[in-house]
Amino acid sequence: MVRVRLAPSPTGTLHIGTARTAVFNWLFARHQKGQFLLRIEDTDKERSRPEFTANILEGLSWLGIDWDEDPMIQSERIQEHRSAIQTLLDRGLAYRCYASEEELTTMREVQKAENKAPRYDNRHRNLTPEQESAFQAEGREAVIRFRIDDSEEIHWRDLVRGPMQWRGADLGGDMVIARRAPADQIGDPLYNLVVVVDDAAMAITHVIRGEDHIANTAKQLLLYKALQLAEPVFAHAPLILNAEGRKLSKRDGVTSINDFRSMGYTAEAIANYMTLLGWSVPEGMEERFTLAQAAEVFGFDRVNKAGARFDWDKLNWLNAQVLHGLTAEQLLEEVSPLWSEQGWVLPDDQTWSLALCELLGPSLTLLKDAIEQAQPFFVCPELQDDGRKQLEADGARTAIGHLMESLVNDPWDGSDTAKAQSLLADAATKAGVKKGVLMKSLRAALLGRLQGPDLITTWSLLARIGQDLPRLKRCLA
Ligand code: GLU
Repeated sequence: MVRVRLAPSPTGTLHIGTARTAVFNWLFARHQKGQFLLRIEDTDKERSRPEFTANILEGLSWLGIDWDEDPMIQSERIQEHRSAIQTLLDRGLAYRCYASEEELTTMREVQKAENKAPRYDNRHRNLTPEQESAFQAEGREAVIRFRIDDSEEIHWRDLVRGPMQWRGADLGGDMVIARRAPADQIGDPLYNLVVVVDDAAMAITHVIRGEDHIANTAKQLLLYKALQLAEPVFAHAPLILNAEGRKLSKRDGVTSINDFRSMGYTAEAIANYMTLLGWSVPEGMEERFTLAQAAEVFGFDRVNKAGARFDWDKLNWLNAQVLHGLTAEQLLEEVSPLWSEQGWVLPDDQTWSLALCELLGPSLTLLKDAIEQAQPFFVCPELQDDGRKQLEADGARTAIGHLMESLVNDPWDGSDTAKAQSLLADAATKAGVKKGVLMKSLRAALLGRLQGPDLITTWSLLARIGQDLPRLKRCLA
């Protein structure tokens, strides 16, 4: 049974890179009829916060990603982590290193001066018991390091990148697996060690994560071997790049799924777009799909090695497709909280709100466009320059005047559009202007500007809430 996991660190809100990793893991698990698990990597006590865990779980659910089993909480497993370290110490595969921070800094400075890559020079790998006692007598604390032999060759077959090869010599020397602590203790266990112990405990079969973890994979494979644990298969997804081809970062303005949500993107569009960040659809499949549809065909054979450039146009296009595909009821559910936030009150008659959604839906790219576009239906808009100019046109005000007169005598309830058409034709004839002039002027009067959705429907909606006449009146004042 395929078992994969997402292992977020709750040190911030759900990051786009983490969300994309989640999507790939979920798609693979569902395609393989396997399981998708979560592990909260909260061992960094200073930076981890419960509200970030809540944000990450909520963000995944919002995207439509569900998980199997309760999430594993890494900080609850410190005994298991320590006992793995003890095993490595007992087998002589790990040792205490007493080098002080100052000594290590000096070591790196010397390496730099000699134009060498910085690495730990394994200086305490073979301390004699006497040397150790002497350091302890000085009161020195120790980190615990895992031996990485320079001659070690590490191979794995990556599901995305194919055959991979690393040399022990390129891993920076013996690796710290536990933080500094008094020499009779084991300090806080560190990332590479705990990930291996936990992935093995969760019986993870495939580790799917970002390309920035490749060097960690090499180190982790050595730990699997040392701890005699079964190795999972690895797949490294390409990095997400900005338009300039650099790794997408805070400087690009959006990094958190929250940012996209508040910009008005739908979960469907984001999930769809995350999938396309690195995966290409098989021939004959549309680029607009649901996660469930993608899960039917997802595999790593179609995941690219090259970095995935973030393309706002494509995301906007997808979002528009999603919005245009919503029913009026679904759209109303999405936009009514946004409208309420503006302090706008929807009429009791729900058919009015649904008709407004139907009218505005086709022109939305982002959900929040529905705020600007709906505004004149809730608040009487100021006359814009183009609207004011239109009302100055020859015969415009006279025609509005005639239309108003008919409406005062016999208000239009907004239902019979043939009646609206004949009211317009009559008023235009009486004023001696073309019907088109009156229609433009009516739009200016109702919306304050010349751009907007279908005029008769707009008028009908305003008529239904008694807002057409007052707007015509103000143009004549
Ligand atoms: N907590 C790590 C991260 O968020 C997990 C990486 C991994 O998947 O092993 O980067």
